Amino acid sequence: MLARKKNKRNMKFIVDRMYYRLAKWLRILGYDTLFDQDFTDEDYLLRAAKEKRILITRDENLKQKAKKAGILTITVDAPTIEERLILLHQFTGIKLHLPTRSLPRCTVCNAPIKVVSKRKITDQLKPQTRATYTKFWQCKNPNCRQIYWKGPHWKEMAQMLEFCRKSLNIEKDT
Ligand SMILES: [Zn+2]
Repeated sequence: MLARKKNKRNMKFIVDRMYYRLAKWLRILGYDTLFDQDFTDEDYLLRAAKEKRILITRDENLKQKAKKAGILTITVDAPTIEERLILLHQFTGIKLHLPTRSLPRCTVCNAPIKVVSKRKITDQLKPQTRATYTKFWQCKNPNCRQIYWKGPHWKEMAQMLEFCRKSLNIEKDT
């Protein structure tokens, strides 16, 4: 295991474009995860080194450069998102639980999200969402402001993570 025992949610990642879905998952799990379609190799290396991020890539060329620069690099070679998360857990010890004490990060832009009162965002909700949910969160990034609520998708994600934990035989969150 590469991670320290404590503060596992403090791990930071930078993810190449092949792992777009994995980047979103890491944000949902609360991990600060950079992803940008336009990053060049230099961007990956600079940001990883400067911000102490673990680089997730399968680009051999980039891996070699990262190794030379002393950047921790991981390849999660598996076909499904579940298997990729499992491998990543085995490499780094990332938590495979939806955050309870902390919050996920915005899946769109990686900024932190915060609780927002329904009143403030009610105009932006579809009628069915407005009628069904009471608790909402919003991205703190003024250029994004994505709104979140725990809809059916949240339950599906929890189930998928449970599947991952069962595959790993993790009873509690380790
Ligand atoms: Zn956002």
